[in-house]
Amino acid sequence: MLTKMKNLKERCEEKNCDLWEIALEDEIENTGKSEEEIWDRLQRTLDVMKKSAQAALETEIISVTGMTGGNAKSMHDYFLNGESVLGDTPALAMAMALSTSEINAAMGIIAAAPTAGSSGILPATLMTMYKKYGYSDDELKKALLVTSAIGQVIFDNATFAGAEGGCQAETGSAAAMAAAAVCFLRGYDIQIQENAATAALLNILGLVCDPIGGMVEFPCNLRNANGVMNALASADMAMANVKMIVTFDEAVDALKRVGDVLPARLRETGEGGIAVCPSALKLKAKYIDGE
Ligand code: SF4
Repeated sequence: MLTKMKNLKERCEEKNCDLWEIALEDEIENTGKSEEEIWDRLQRTLDVMKKSAQAALETEIISVTGMTGGNAKSMHDYFLNGESVLGDTPALAMAMALSTSEINAAMGIIAAAPTAGSSGILPATLMTMYKKYGYSDDELKKALLVTSAIGQVIFDNATFAGAEGGCQAETGSAAAMAAAAVCFLRGYDIQIQENAATAALLNILGLVCDPIGGMVEFPCNLRNANGVMNALASADMAMANVKMIVTFDEAVDALKRVGDVLPARLRETGEGGIAVCPSALKLKAKYIDGE
């Protein structure tokens, strides 16, 4: 049966429990693993996320193609200078999202949550919550379970793949998952977690996938930095009680409908959007085609 947010909420209500507990129950049933094994796997995932979010902050990491890199360090230096217009928390969050993106482009180890292209958003969000509020690993692992429930709804009813649904499906999904996790960590109930996830998807609906040369580098790195901002802003809006007119299930259906009508050139082929700008084509020729 396809997972719907409506059903997840009903199950939470019936059992008087939180979303992470339902997600844990489903993980045990779907994987056949014990609860202990699931917590161990979550810890390993969290450890990878912590590492990737920090690894490129102080050392320039250049991608395998040589096309991108060093931006996480630039953003981190800017954060250390205290000059950010947005403030320290967003500046560091963006630096950490860029860090994981660069580790990914350098073929380092990342947790693809939900995809490699969007892998910067969740680690940066969780590390932001850790740095700002000091949440324990146990709390962060429960937050990861919340993200898996939100992700399951998207996976079952739409897609995570940029090649199918555009960047809205990758970085939008990651931001939705992360936004719900933030609300959970702050102690808000499942309705607010849902509202945050809904806002994050709606904020990015229609975003195309147009990486230079089809490589997951640029503008993917910018979209990861923007994705963590989307997650934090959507969580803040939900926790401030900004009303959502549509449900998360409806937002996911909308994402699917929009993805279905995106032309192929805007779905990871590198044949549309910014990928065909003259500057992008020059970079592609130099770093990817070796001309
Ligand atoms: S632009 Fe495409 S490849 Fe890059 S993060 Fe978005 S969906 Fe992934």
